[in-house]
Amino acid sequence: MDNDAELTQTNAPVLNPQDEKQAILAAIIASTDDTIISKTLDGIITSWNPAAEKMFGYSASEAIGQHITLIIPPERFDEEAFIIGQVKKGEKVDHFETVRQAKDGSRIPISLTVSPIRNSSGAIIGASKIARDITERQKADEKQAVLSAIVTTSDDAIISKTLEGIVTSWNPSAQRLFGYSEQEALGKHISLIIPPDRLSEEDVIIDNIRRGNKIDHFETIRMRKDGSMIPISVSISPIMSSSGKIIGASKIARDISEQQKIYDQLRVLNAKKDEFIGLASHELKTPLTSINGYLQILAMRMTDDKNKSFLEKTQQQVKKLSSLVEDLLDISKIEAGKLSFATEEFDICEIIEDAVDLISHANNSYHITFQPAVSSCLLTGDAHRIEQVIINLMTNAIRYSPGSDAIEIFLNEESDEIRVGVKDYGVGIAPEKLTNIFSRFYRVNEGNANVSGLGIGLYLCHEIVTRHGGKIWADSVPGEGSTFWFTVPRKAVQD
Ligand code: ADP
Repeated sequence: MDNDAELTQTNAPVLNPQDEKQAILAAIIASTDDTIISKTLDGIITSWNPAAEKMFGYSASEAIGQHITLIIPPERFDEEAFIIGQVKKGEKVDHFETVRQAKDGSRIPISLTVSPIRNSSGAIIGASKIARDITERQKADEKQAVLSAIVTTSDDAIISKTLEGIVTSWNPSAQRLFGYSEQEALGKHISLIIPPDRLSEEDVIIDNIRRGNKIDHFETIRMRKDGSMIPISVSISPIMSSSGKIIGASKIARDISEQQKIYDQLRVLNAKKDEFIGLASHELKTPLTSINGYLQILAMRMTDDKNKSFLEKTQQQVKKLSSLVEDLLDISKIEAGKLSFATEEFDICEIIEDAVDLISHANNSYHITFQPAVSSCLLTGDAHRIEQVIINLMTNAIRYSPGSDAIEIFLNEESDEIRVGVKDYGVGIAPEKLTNIFSRFYRVNEGNANVSGLGIGLYLCHEIVTRHGGKIWADSVPGEGSTFWFTVPRKAVQD
């Protein structure tokens, strides 16, 4: 001990063993962090170490000779009588938790140990008290109490377990959720609530916890005491010891059966909606086919009639309606997993040229340019569906570029795929919307209020291209225009 070393190395006069012991004790008392005070049986302070000065704010000269009530709050004066009573009986008062008062009036929570002081003949002549400030410990206790109140009152099941899977805590909600009482669960292996076919999950979880990883919102099934299954969402975190070692895991589990019910209902409703779209478009298709037929007969009979332009307009609108109904039918086929593709070899250059002719014919104010680097480009896939993609992209390019008259089509050949681009100089699309435009029924509203649509064209394009093993995306600058690109492998892989 430093104090020993200092004391034995000084040049002070040689002391007899009794005095030396006394000197060592005095040095310890002077340097300890614990407050050490001694007093007579009448409560008069006889010693007051530097730690006491620090804790209570009185210097030794201010305190020595005063009554100990100097630092006892008035409402606790009774305690002194009790303590002195014990000391007089020769008994020690151990870790007595109380409150004392400093010179500035502040209250200090302390833990007090008081021992009798005896003279050389063994008679009790006073008391020594060691006081320790327990403010920090009390704060920690309060924090602990708050935490345990949260755990007790939480609606979520909160469970902790060792790395071996032994349950070490089990709150009231865990009891409600799983049916086992705290007593029944503590000390048991966590497999108590894991269905047999999911036991391997526990290995994965513990493996992650050992590596210090947290598991967030893991949805799984657990088993109640009565054997029934319960869907839960669980988050699991490692528990660290004060030295930072991982010693276990705490898990918070939430019953998600209500959410699952809602989710199931939504799935049923969604399936019904898809079924309705399928049925409705099928029902619409039949009369449309007849109307189209009659209009064609009418067109053949109506030669040189001044009303022929009305008929042509009607035919155009019927065509639009038919293609909408076709798109809706395709959507319902996709949802039902019934959209099928033909596999044939075709020249995509020809398909693009035909589409350019068709679209130019209907929109003669637009200059649509297509100058492929090659004269033919053979692909395997569904020619009709690929044509549908190209026509869709070109139609959009026209619809969303009201102030411009140019559309450019690109065709690039890569080693194992071809890439087609459709460029317009129209309204463009904001970057944050670019990923959504291929979703079903998604439409960008700003700036497009006068363009009607259902938001299904790009969804269909995406489905067709990805089912061919390709990719579709768009580059766009709002106000400057967009280029839609898609790739198709030369030998399309259709699933
Ligand atoms: P619709 O055109 O019927 O709304 P689409 O699925 O074809 O449905 O397109 C989805 C959305 O993407 C459109 O509503 C539009 O906001 C945007 N969009 C598509 N093509 C273009 C384009 N060439 N320029 C700007 N916006 C476009």
